[in-house]
Amino acid sequence: MAKPPLPTATPRRKPKPSIETIGNRKLSPATLMMGFGFDPMLSEGALKPPIFLTSTFAFENAEAGKRHFEGITGKRPGGADGLVYSRFNGPNQEILEDRLAVWDEAEDALVFSSGMSAIATLFLAHVGAGDVIVHSGPLYAATETMIARILARFGITYLDFPAEASREEMDAILAAAKEQAAAQGGRVAMVYLESPANPTNALVDVEAMRAAVDAAFDADARPAIAIDNTFLGPLWSRPLRHGADVVLYSLTKYAGGHSDLVAGGVLGAKRWLDPVRAMRNTIGTICDPNTAWMLLRSLETLELRMSRAGENAAKVCDFLRSHPKVDGLGYLGFLPEGPQKDIFDRHCTGAGSTFSLFISGGEAEAFRFLDALRIAKLAVSLGGTETLASAPAAMTHLSVPDDRKAAMGITPNLVRISIGIEDPDDLIADFAQALDAV
Ligand SMILES: *Cc1c(COP(=O)(O)O)cnc(C)c1O
Repeated sequence: MAKPPLPTATPRRKPKPSIETIGNRKLSPATLMMGFGFDPMLSEGALKPPIFLTSTFAFENAEAGKRHFEGITGKRPGGADGLVYSRFNGPNQEILEDRLAVWDEAEDALVFSSGMSAIATLFLAHVGAGDVIVHSGPLYAATETMIARILARFGITYLDFPAEASREEMDAILAAAKEQAAAQGGRVAMVYLESPANPTNALVDVEAMRAAVDAAFDADARPAIAIDNTFLGPLWSRPLRHGADVVLYSLTKYAGGHSDLVAGGVLGAKRWLDPVRAMRNTIGTICDPNTAWMLLRSLETLELRMSRAGENAAKVCDFLRSHPKVDGLGYLGFLPEGPQKDIFDRHCTGAGSTFSLFISGGEAEAFRFLDALRIAKLAVSLGGTETLASAPAAMTHLSVPDDRKAAMGITPNLVRISIGIEDPDDLIADFAQALDAV
């Protein structure tokens, strides 16, 4: 019996398509998450992408191998046009990158083994000795450590400003950063933002920062504006639309959404991402194929999960705001008229599902509340299907000096809550009985 002919091409996904349309209707991200960037016919008809567990990829011929390495090493711009080795990329990661980019309408996307490895790789790619990083504050604690302790060992300094800074304050901090960079023989290499800040929920005016950067630097010498969009993205905030160049995610949170994986993402124009890809190729901070596959599954329900969590949070906060044992609520849905509300209206399409709850009393009352919760789990992190609660002053921010804690409003009675997708009335019943126990 004749053997079937050998396949001529490695079963792979089809090349990156442009955003798909029906007639002149551009399909929405929620639709594209089910099939974008993957052709089942290239993988034995498998409806879902197989997990490609391989460390290396066979070349069709020697000429193809040379061409791929020209792309990897940057001899030819645009990156590799084929797969080479799994430290550089793989089919599952590439499909994930294409689908992630859809949400933020980004030109390019890169996925990483964690949110922190994404952030660290971004810095290593764009910042060098003598350079200055300008950043909003507060930042995720490990990001602050990365900038203030680790990058500092390589002669990189920083200047920070409060997240809620006005345009005038932004102009002043950029002018100071230029002076500092000149004195150190470096450049202002990056403007790094996090909005909303944790746990203050302060929003950064990305549009104002972009205008400030454009006014302070020549277009071809300006620093990238990067923003950690983990708390509201990609559903409720799309910072690339407001002037950011690079968007970062801990995909561990809403994108993964089931508290069962750790991963990160960096999105933006190729101009800013090409050096990040080269750095990732060198140090190997890419996410693994299994995690990429899990994230593909998660993205199919991203809009459903985030919408439900956001609706649940609005109902729970409505209940909590007038409760006698609640001293205050840091929830973006209840911002009073003012500059922060103005930023929210311009930048955000939803208030998210992570907020701060101030229990009447101090640490003892907050702990009694936490220990009485029955549905909500006592854990740090956010953005999962389940509701989580924690006490930042005693947990995530325990090592922050007391005066900085006070300045950031991290009081002992502060409870951080991430609302999940449970039945909202069950959640309200749980919060009601836990408050009764205080
Ligand atoms: C969790 C988190 C990170 C770090 O992400 P990991 O996936 O844990 O490495 C960074 N920024 C924000 C805002 C986060 O919430």
